Amino acid sequence: MDKLKNISFDHCIKCTICTMYCPVSKETPLFPGPKQAGPDSERLRIKSPGLVDSSLKYCTNCKRCEISCPSDVRIAEIIQDAKWRYLKKKFFRPRDFFMSRTDLAGRFGTLLAPLSNFFLKLDLMRFFLDIFLKIPGKRTLPKYNRTTFSKYFTKYMAERQKNFTRELLYFHGCYVNYNDLRLGTDTVDVLNEMDYGVKIADEKCCGVPLIANGYIEKATKNALHNINALSLNDCTSRIVSTSSSCTFALTHEYESFLKVDNSSILNRTSYITRFLYEEFSEGNIPQMGNIGLRAAYHSPCHLERQGGLIYTIGVLKMIPGLELIVLNSECCGISGTYGFKKEYYGISQKIGENLFRQIELAEPEVVITDCETCKMQIEMNTRYRVIHPVSIIKMAIERGREI
Ligand code: SF4
Ligand code: SF4
Repeated sequence: MDKLKNISFDHCIKCTICTMYCPVSKETPLFPGPKQAGPDSERLRIKSPGLVDSSLKYCTNCKRCEISCPSDVRIAEIIQDAKWRYLKKKFFRPRDFFMSRTDLAGRFGTLLAPLSNFFLKLDLMRFFLDIFLKIPGKRTLPKYNRTTFSKYFTKYMAERQKNFTRELLYFHGCYVNYNDLRLGTDTVDVLNEMDYGVKIADEKCCGVPLIANGYIEKATKNALHNINALSLNDCTSRIVSTSSSCTFALTHEYESFLKVDNSSILNRTSYITRFLYEEFSEGNIPQMGNIGLRAAYHSPCHLERQGGLIYTIGVLKMIPGLELIVLNSECCGISGTYGFKKEYYGISQKIGENLFRQIELAEPEVVITDCETCKMQIEMNTRYRVIHPVSIIKMAIERGREI
């Protein structure tokens, strides 16, 4: 009966627009496309729940089909749900298990850094990962911080947060916690400039990699933990996140896919640029100097799915001296852990080709994007550094101080 909670397949008018927009079905005949794998097959699966097939595993959960659908069919969710039933039939999958446990991998990686970063670069280690775990040797792996953001924040930044008149909760996510300490500190600094003191909660991975790899029970546990941690002591502060995928999980996937009640955080949670856009529009703009930078902007699929693109572009346009080239909307191909798997690596790289070409043709000084895995994919495939919008604002604030 649980299946019937998502009856959106019945709204499909068979226009096939979703199939035109699906980056995977464009690149491989092994995936029949969203219409067929989603609403068409769902009717059959309802009659015979065991009718799940291996082609479902090619879906990256990028959500581009849902963005394009005129009937609001939750296509990607339908596919993820069926894919989970297919994956459940398989035995222990060590690579997918560790790859989706970002907290576990991050704790180890951070604890052992810089040794972990050194070993992950060694040819022998990459050979081992390729042969035994099917993580392609060509794939660039993320570097680990020497300390977690949460420890750094508690030790060096928490005390000064009491000096501000307003308060915000920051859901930093695994990437900031284990791989990009700088984005975390930039975020706190920018919010402090706007007279917001920052608090962090005892958070766990938002669940996106768990959902993508079929670990739904664990993703549900994490969702319940995070909702509780963000609502502790009847907290009503606004919540911001610098990860478009984490925000999407907190505001959409928890309720829509995991069927977890997220009402206590839903209206308080936004992706950071939406919050900044609202504040900037009301005049709460930090003092910024002329940044003098030509940048290409890539919009991540999950940000587009939640309607957040307009806020990021709106905020970037308010940065003095930023020449912004907004690239055509294209999937970068990495889709979280998908591009780290040997069997999908070729498809992932092919999907991203149009985007990489656009970036090279634009000849920017840097690329801007909101998503951590898009950053990894673009940096691996182009010659450009990729920066988060919040770090660009921080750079403009520093430029303002130099004058
Ligand atoms: S989520 Fe992405 S890969 Fe999956 S069917 Fe939709 S468009 Fe295709
Ligand atoms: S875009 Fe929506 S309505 Fe059109 S075929 Fe796909 S699921 Fe059906």
